[in-house]
Amino acid sequence: MKLLVPVKRVVDYNVKVRVRADGSGVETAGVKMSMNPFDEIAVEEAVRLKEKGIASEVIAVSLGVAACGETIRTALAMGADRGILVETDAELQPLAVAKLLRAIAEREQPGLIILGKQAIDDDMNATGQMLAALLGWPQGTFASKLEIAGETIAVTREIDGGLETVSLSRPAIVTTDLRLNEPRYASLPNIMKARKKPIETLTPAALGVDPAPRLALVKVVEPAKRQAGKKVGSVAELVAKLKTEAKVI
Ligand code: AMP
Repeated sequence: MKLLVPVKRVVDYNVKVRVRADGSGVETAGVKMSMNPFDEIAVEEAVRLKEKGIASEVIAVSLGVAACGETIRTALAMGADRGILVETDAELQPLAVAKLLRAIAEREQPGLIILGKQAIDDDMNATGQMLAALLGWPQGTFASKLEIAGETIAVTREIDGGLETVSLSRPAIVTTDLRLNEPRYASLPNIMKARKKPIETLTPAALGVDPAPRLALVKVVEPAKRQAGKKVGSVAELVAKLKTEAKVI
């Protein structure tokens, strides 16, 4: 069974993001970029399935500017076998990404596509669900456990107040939650080996997809700054402040 793993290049999770002065988005120039953390979990899960002999090949796919090739190299260094870069400078929203991934899925015929549950830049949490709808495949979202037996995939999902297990038939879509696994670090020899693994470069036009955005970004603002705390002199003063000044947020 082939596995397809879409990996998005996002601002590194350690970077304190800055909003552009004109409110048109987040500053990305000169900022460290990395693989979306939920996608690292997806690559890890796919590589483990290959190590267990359940998957035959792991294909990492990234869509966006040429530098997304670096994100694919990271996936290859973690153990993916080959990469596909869909190169475009156009802004890609989830529906366009899902349509491009559908086109790739139709070419590659994977048994399973493992995506992150959300990309930490826009927090859309939409691509996996849209892709499942476009392909007409079952989906197990927010997976914290994945078990494959024959044609059946059991996905344990983190839901409010507990866990839910769903059973999917192949081919299927799974999206990863934080507790699915702990991704490995790529070792130096594997980083070197990854340089030789193949990456195919395609374009949206070659896949027959118009990636034009459907949503217009109106404005991005920084979160409100927290006010400094105050020390109170007594319990009575604290109670008085709680009564008169404290607000339910
Ligand atoms: P989102 O719906 O934007 O929160 O993204 C959910 C998941 O879709 C991500 O964790 C990735 O697995 C995948 N994805 C979204 N955008 C891209 C992209 N440009 N390239 C590769 N994968 C993507």
